[in-house]
Amino acid sequence: MELWYTENHTKNIRFSLKVKEQLYSQESEFQKVDVFDTYEFGRILTIDGLMMVTQKDEFIYHDMIVHVAMATNPNIKSALVIGGGDGGTVRELTRYSFIEKIDMVEIDKLVVEASKEHLEFTSKNLDDPRVNLYFEDGVKFVEGKKQEYDVIIVDSTDPVGPGEGLFSTEFYQNCYDALTKNGILINQKESPFYARDAKEMIRADQKIKKIFPLAMTYQYSIPTYPSGLWLFGFASKGLHPVKDLDADKWNQLEIKTKYYNTDIHVGAFALPTYVREMIENGTY
Ligand code: SAM
Repeated sequence: MELWYTENHTKNIRFSLKVKEQLYSQESEFQKVDVFDTYEFGRILTIDGLMMVTQKDEFIYHDMIVHVAMATNPNIKSALVIGGGDGGTVRELTRYSFIEKIDMVEIDKLVVEASKEHLEFTSKNLDDPRVNLYFEDGVKFVEGKKQEYDVIIVDSTDPVGPGEGLFSTEFYQNCYDALTKNGILINQKESPFYARDAKEMIRADQKIKKIFPLAMTYQYSIPTYPSGLWLFGFASKGLHPVKDLDADKWNQLEIKTKYYNTDIHVGAFALPTYVREMIENGTY
C-alpha cells in the first residue's frame, strides 16, 4: 500500500510526496504537528498538513532568512527569532561567534519536541548556551520591548491560526520598537505567484512600509513551497541590504553555506517586473 503526503497549493493544485513512514503525529492546543520520512525529500515537518521544512531543501530557506541580515550588519550581537520551532534559523545564527544572545519564541512546544526527536539536522544547535527558548506567543513577547535586538527574524507559519498575529500592524510596530538603531526585521513574506499567497504578501508589505523607513523584498526558490518562488521581507531603520553590504567582510568570516553567497544576496533583491509592480501598486 502506497502512502502519500499531499498539500493543496490552491484548490486546483496539489503537491504530493511519497512517504516511507510517519514518524510523529501529535495535536497541541494550537495545531497538528506531523513528521514523515519521504523518498525524495527525506524527513519533513508539517503543521496542520502544511509543509514547513524538508531535509532536502531547508538549507535554502534557513540560509536566506539569516545570512542576508548578518552580512548587512556585521555588528549583530542580539537576535530574536519568532517561530522557527524546527531550529534551522537558530542553527544558522549560532554560526556567528560574535552573536551574544539568541532569544527564540515558539508558541508550540510540540514543534520543538518533534524537531529535537526527528529533525536533528535543523534542531541540533538549540542547546547552544546563547539560545534562550520561550514557549510563548511571539505577538505578546515583543510588546513593550525597547531597543533590545539588533535583528528580529519572524520565521512564522502562514497568517492563519496562531501565525495570524505575526502579520499585524501592531506586531510590526512592536518589532520596530524592540529593534536597536541599526535594527533589521526579516519576515517570512509568502509568495507572489498564487492569489492567496500574493494577497497576504501585499498586505504584509503595505503594513511594514508604513512603519519602517526602509522596507524591501527578496526572493529565493524553494521546491516544496507553493509555486517554488518564495519571499522574505527586509526592513530596517536605515541599513540598506545592498548598499551597506560589505561582501569582503562577510566572506572573510569563511562561513560555509550551500545556497547563500554575497552575489545571490544582491541578486535576490532584483525582483521580476510582475512582483515589483505588485509591491509598488499594492495590487495582485
Ligand atoms: N519555514 C516555515 C514556513 O515558512 O512556513 C516555518 C517554520 S516554523 C515551523 C513556523 C513556526 O511558527 C511554527 O513552529 C509555529 O508553531 C510558530 N508560530 C506560529 N504562530 C506563532 C506565534 N504567534 N508565536 C510564536 N510562534 C508561532
